[in-house]
Amino acid sequence: MSVPELLPWLNNDWRDLWGHPGGLPHALLFAGPAGVGKREFAEAMAARLLCERASGNARACGECDACRWFAAGNHPDFRWVIPEADAEEIESEDAPAKTEKADKKKSSQILVGQVRALADFVYVGAHRDRGRVILVQPAEAMNVAAANSLLKILEEPPATVYFILVSDGYRRLLPTIRSRCRMQLMSRPDAKTAGDWLGPKQADAARLLAVTGGMPLRALAAGEQGWGKLVAALEKALADVDQDEMSLASAWEGLLKNAEAFAMEDMITLLQKWLGDLVSRQMAGRARFFVDADAVQRRLLGRSSTPALLHCYNQFQSARPLANHPLNPRLFLEDLAARYLAAFAAPRPSR
Ligand SMILES: [Zn+2]
Repeated sequence: MSVPELLPWLNNDWRDLWGHPGGLPHALLFAGPAGVGKREFAEAMAARLLCERASGNARACGECDACRWFAAGNHPDFRWVIPEADAEEIESEDAPAKTEKADKKKSSQILVGQVRALADFVYVGAHRDRGRVILVQPAEAMNVAAANSLLKILEEPPATVYFILVSDGYRRLLPTIRSRCRMQLMSRPDAKTAGDWLGPKQADAARLLAVTGGMPLRALAAGEQGWGKLVAALEKALADVDQDEMSLASAWEGLLKNAEAFAMEDMITLLQKWLGDLVSRQMAGRARFFVDADAVQRRLLGRSSTPALLHCYNQFQSARPLANHPLNPRLFLEDLAARYLAAFAAPRPSR
């Protein structure tokens, strides 16, 4: 049992937070791209606020009663507010009457009831003497009623209550909420730091970091879901532009069937990244996502043109809204495959 890891590239953020001349505000907003480590940072922060031994900018001690309770998930002065769909527990049958869609049992929003339920916690004294901490994640999941309800608490925050909001898309938060929080944009790691951290955890670290845009936590999750092999298989399928659309669609279908956490939408994202890489290799000589597919991509560039690649990219973009509910997934894939292959059907440019 231990306190949450403080990710090495966030050490400066930690020092900035604790060394801030204005002291620690009652409401913090940790923002930044998905996978940069905001949640881990927020948990480390919550643990530190509750820890009964740590002082200054030290981390939570990991040994006191408070730290042990926190690590076990039952500190009485801590609340974690997340969308119902993110909580693995209890399937509540008495969902709000307004939820009429039968297929939507668990809300992906944070509902007003969840925020109202904080009132007792917030306005009644703490169990221990370190104050109380509420972690809201992701903050943009609050619906308008929930956000307004939270705003009322933030307008007159009780002493020794800390709110920590975590957000991938802080611009979607109500401006009135944002103005009540001190926002901290989490630092992104450089490539070496990210690689050093992920390397011992995942065999395909470099590839995973590249396809996830250098976000280590996303890369770690992708690796745990088998994306390393999956991306390699996808590269192999995309390298052959002389096959017909049926066989390319079969290859894609195989990837979707064999991987649990790999949806059609994820595949379109990767296909677009692949096309984006081809374009950027052509224009700037460099790829961003499929960094180890140099030879394949350079060969493919000889078979296509920037307009054809961009055209295909846009077609995939238009297909994206259908990705989660295609009427016929197989036909959907064949259509995408035909469009991809068509981008390489142009006659070879004569040199
Ligand atoms: Zn402690």
